[in-house]
Amino acid sequence: MQTTDGSDFDYEVLIVGGGPAGLSAALQLGRSLRSVLVCDNDEPRNGPAAEAHGYLTRDGIPPEELRRLGREEVTKYDGEFRNSQVTNVERSGAGFTSTLDTDETVTSRKVLLATGVSDDLPDTDGFEEFWGSGVYHCPYCHGYEVRDQPLGVLVTNQHMVEYAKMVYNLSKDLIVFTDGQDVFDDESRLTFVERGIEIEDEPIIALNGSDGNLENISLADGHNVARHALFYPPPMEQHSELPEQLGLDVNEAGLVDATRSQRGIGFTSVDGVFIAGDASSGAPPAIVSAVADGYAVGATMNGELSMEDFEVGLQ
Ligand SMILES: Cc1cc2nc3c(=O)[nH]c(=O)nc-3n(C[C@H](O)[C@H](O)[C@H](O)COP(=O)(O)OP(=O)(O)OC[C@H]3O[C@@H](n4cnc5c(N)ncnc54)[C@H](O)[C@@H]3O)c2cc1C
Repeated sequence: MQTTDGSDFDYEVLIVGGGPAGLSAALQLGRSLRSVLVCDNDEPRNGPAAEAHGYLTRDGIPPEELRRLGREEVTKYDGEFRNSQVTNVERSGAGFTSTLDTDETVTSRKVLLATGVSDDLPDTDGFEEFWGSGVYHCPYCHGYEVRDQPLGVLVTNQHMVEYAKMVYNLSKDLIVFTDGQDVFDDESRLTFVERGIEIEDEPIIALNGSDGNLENISLADGHNVARHALFYPPPMEQHSELPEQLGLDVNEAGLVDATRSQRGIGFTSVDGVFIAGDASSGAPPAIVSAVADGYAVGATMNGELSMEDFEVGLQ
């Protein structure tokens, strides 16, 4: 018979992804005396940024330092780590068997996917080069640092017009680039023009600069527009193939549908597999939300393990 203390398994919980969400869940589970393995292949979403902002008490911390501190805390509670990618997760018996890219296999009672998202960037020259160091997705994360500078916002559909309005608060020297897309009707165009915001409809050819700093934006008509930073919220997609492999429901925004019940949050359509952080529909995409979500999902998973330990027939 299967024992209740997880001894049939290598770990009680496998956490895939060691970013803010995965580490926060690992902390809760470790403090609940659950054996945890965190696997991470070191491709954090905010890796291109030098500093992370908006996380109270850690504002301005380099992303890798936040992760190092997180690992240190998880290690205090005997959490283990592998710097490797999980390539496959499948159900086996009452739990799961997962395969790492080192060919190691790991069994666990539960699996948490804290695998994050990837940003689907336009293939315009220079976009990727300046992503996180001059091209930003989030005015809350990086707006303050470029306040009052010549700024741009790339707005390629009508839903993004509201986003452009938020950047106006950061600098009155603002140009909205539509990259040749039909975004504004006359009325909404006027609301921008009335506030001294230029709308540039020429397609963008390239982003240019030096030493990782954005300097100007080349347009199809041949002229360059000097800009210190450009804001653009790209579509997101799942970073990992595991949600698809496991048949999890992914919504239109590219996020795994997480459900909440009286028993907690972070449940997916596959029993025993949980989701937390950016990858989940349950958390707005920011470090503080990923940490909060990881905390809550970690506690939910501990609750599920505890309830199972009391199921009839197990002892
Ligand atoms: C350029 C940029 C700057 C940002 N700046 C800020 C900021 O200043 N403040 C802020 O609050 N937010 C910021 N964000 C958002 C922030 O990065 C995310 O909200 C946060 O990282 C989400 O944490 P997470 O743990 O869910 O995902 P992530 O931090 O992305 O961590 C997921 C981890 O899972 C790993 N992984 C994925 N699949 C596998 C697999 N199969 N096997 C093993 N490991 C796997 C990845 O390598 C990654 O390390 C920024 C985002 C970007 C793009």
